[in-house]
Amino acid sequence: MTEFNWSDILGNEEKIRQIREMINSQQFPNAVIFSGLEGIGKKKIAETAAISLLCESDDKPCGHCPSCRAFMTASHPDYYYMEPGRSKANPMIKIDQVRALQREVSLMPVMSNLRMVIIDDSELMNSAAQNCLLKTIEEPSGLSKFILITSNRSRLLMTLRSRCMIINFERLSEDNIKRGLETKNIDNATEIAVISNGSLGQAFKLAENDGLKIREDVLNFVELLSKMTIEDIFGKGQSMSTQTKENFRDWIIHFQKILRDLLIVNTDIDKGYYYNRDLRNKLLKLRSRFSDSAVFAMMQEAAEIQRRLNSNANLELLIESFFIKLRRNTQSMSS
Ligand SMILES: [Zn+2]
Repeated sequence: MTEFNWSDILGNEEKIRQIREMINSQQFPNAVIFSGLEGIGKKKIAETAAISLLCESDDKPCGHCPSCRAFMTASHPDYYYMEPGRSKANPMIKIDQVRALQREVSLMPVMSNLRMVIIDDSELMNSAAQNCLLKTIEEPSGLSKFILITSNRSRLLMTLRSRCMIINFERLSEDNIKRGLETKNIDNATEIAVISNGSLGQAFKLAENDGLKIREDVLNFVELLSKMTIEDIFGKGQSMSTQTKENFRDWIIHFQKILRDLLIVNTDIDKGYYYNRDLRNKLLKLRSRFSDSAVFAMMQEAAEIQRRLNSNANLELLIESFFIKLRRNTQSMSS
């Protein structure tokens, strides 16, 4: 059984206040788009809004009326949740899914006096599916309310967007991310919060994949790079290629973020722009070892390998040539 409480939601306080006000005064629109970065709690907010809109008590969600209990045990007959099919390579919401939804909402609600629909990753509908949804939303009965969740609003058709109220959620503060991590007893919450870019989802991913360890490894690598021998470079390439592609991809992402910070560390650019603000002093020391063009060249190699990682190229060869090119770039360009 899953519980839903407004007080469990981190951040976006003003938006939450407005949403609750709309629910309590029965002004919640028939179609809403919840927009914002991945991993900031949009789905949880949507579900809490849905259970509240279906709740029969005044203090919504009460958590004990028949409707709330049905929702919490995932058995509410008037709640419909839709998400893209599980195909990892090409996830999408198919028109058949939207047609099934269309049939569903043409029926009278069973338990409550309205029906709630949540569509997650709604930008993954193709335009046929979006047009079908548009017709569904405009259904004359008006007994259904739709919440479309998206982290890429621009991929929704203009006609669909203009039919919905748009609520845009902000990144979470470091404090909120720290609090979110601590409720799950995750170590190093402070450090992870700094580099998670305002996304609790990203923070959990970093914690799960040993993100801090990978970052440390990247930093060590950059520190030693200009002194590395050919043997060192081959050794590094070899140890990296024993890991999974996903691990290497994470490594590259941290590498890109460190390079990007390295590029701005001796400028006046606001510290809010740093990915690794906590490393600023270390990066400042490192900066003098690399010319601008060496940093740019490494960034280019990183972007290139990221692109090639999506191809079927041999991972070991790819990693090996990547490290060799990095070494060559830094040796020929740094003084
Ligand atoms: Zn209730």
